[in-house]
Amino acid sequence: MPFFCYFREQFYPLDTPILQSNDLGLLRGYGLFDYFRTYNGIPFRFEDYWARFTNSAASLGLEVPLSEVGVRSILQRLYDLSEEREVAYRLLLTGGYAPDGLSVSQPNFIIRTEALPVDNPEGRKKGIKVIPYEYVRDLPYVKSTGYVHLIKMRTELKQESAADLLFYKNGLVSELTRSNIFIVRSGILITPSKDALRGITRKVVMEKAVGRYPVEERDITLAEVLAADEVFTTSTTKWVMPVTMVGDTKIGSGLPGPVTAELLAALENEFVAYGRSEIGSRKSAG
Ligand SMILES: *Cc1c(COP(=O)(O)O)cnc(C)c1O
Repeated sequence: MPFFCYFREQFYPLDTPILQSNDLGLLRGYGLFDYFRTYNGIPFRFEDYWARFTNSAASLGLEVPLSEVGVRSILQRLYDLSEEREVAYRLLLTGGYAPDGLSVSQPNFIIRTEALPVDNPEGRKKGIKVIPYEYVRDLPYVKSTGYVHLIKMRTELKQESAADLLFYKNGLVSELTRSNIFIVRSGILITPSKDALRGITRKVVMEKAVGRYPVEERDITLAEVLAADEVFTTSTTKWVMPVTMVGDTKIGSGLPGPVTAELLAALENEFVAYGRSEIGSRKSAG
């Protein structure tokens, strides 16, 4: 249970205040992050998350102060300190301290272990409701720390018994606030080609679809979503989550569909098997 974070060569209990208030992440929202977790005690697809994180950092002109190897050893140490079987990790990179409130000199890089996200088995069984929301993220390939719209809309989401927002702009959908979207139409899997984060779960699902369903990456209109046979969303925390209501419109039969269920099962199998075949893999995960 003891979760720690790493910052400038030190490890701290998670509740330690470590940042000054002139950090550009706080002052200007200049920051990015990544979020992943272990399966069988091993960070799932770390190389993919690391590639996305370093690309995001490069897009914002921020230098990541550690190498992949250095970060891997910190992840191991944080895992050991946690004494948990499975943990979630957050990499957080901000513009750093700026006495003038604008200039980047030394980015701040924090690595945190956290408890696993709260699961939503009910949602996976019945599907979730999302509300269309006219917005497209800027710098959509950067996992930035800006989630203003989600947090601002939390009360309304609760009132509508909705789980999330579905971003669309000029008639085209892009993603949910923290997850990607797929639709199923006549046995074809379709996901937006642009304006959405390159989700690692999206990538794994597309791999799992090979040999089962054709996949198209292209523009999707909101009207197509409403008329789809099935809709689902993917993320590290949601896995494959059926979407059965979009606003007041029921999707398909209103129940999670067979393609969604098959891809969810394929993904779950991948998690269960993860790292199991590696020779000399890390110490028993319990
Ligand atoms: C994190 C995130 C996703 C999903 O990415 P995963 O790598 O599958 O977790 C999609 N869209 C946004 C905006 C995100 O922040």
